[in-house]
Amino acid sequence: MNPSDDDYQPISALNDLLYCERRCALHRIENVWVDNVHTVSGTFSHERADRPVDWKCDTGREVHGIWLKSDRLRLVGKADVVEFHPVEGGPDQPFPVEYKRGKRRKWDNDDVQLCAQAICLEEMLGIPIPRGAIYHIKTKRRRDVEFTPTLRNKTETAARRLHELIDAGVTPPPIPKPQCDGCSLVEVCLPKVLVKTNTVADYVRSLWKVSPETDKDLNEEIE
Ligand code: SF4
Repeated sequence: MNPSDDDYQPISALNDLLYCERRCALHRIENVWVDNVHTVSGTFSHERADRPVDWKCDTGREVHGIWLKSDRLRLVGKADVVEFHPVEGGPDQPFPVEYKRGKRRKWDNDDVQLCAQAICLEEMLGIPIPRGAIYHIKTKRRRDVEFTPTLRNKTETAARRLHELIDAGVTPPPIPKPQCDGCSLVEVCLPKVLVKTNTVADYVRSLWKVSPETDKDLNEEIE
């Protein structure tokens, strides 16, 4: 079966998936998006990197906003920046650079996202890409990332799981975890409330403080 363009998922969804599968499903299956301070600053942070430009830099040439695609992993996306480092006697070496807001955060899976970009570029350009970098805008620090077999394996496994999740079309239930503290969807997801209730009906009862035994009409209405 040939995959259609509809089967492709955004590379950035891998980061979401590894942060929390429920968050990924709320975004990609239910189309629920809520901004918080992290997402808004992230959008602003990407503005410069997203401008489509192609210019010379200290390391060779850099191109902003290249569209990426992997037919093998069925992923699409845009690279913030791809540098092309000159190599004597050979083609320039592509080197993807992903811009991130602030400093490195514990739960972000930026390395997987960057590795997926490299896999796309390898497929598109037909040359191996051994490393790239994450640029942390707030600290102005750049961290090199090597695309090891372990990281490539993690990236490919995440891509397969992403397609499984989207194809199934079922949002997993919430599981409270440390990531919830920085999650923009916490007010929509209600992990601490829903995990104590088995169903939406239970949740409505908890909001109205109605016990199932004392209000049969309500039970019929919400079950
Ligand atoms: S609040 Fe927690 S469980 Fe809910 S989507 Fe965010 S990280 Fe996942």
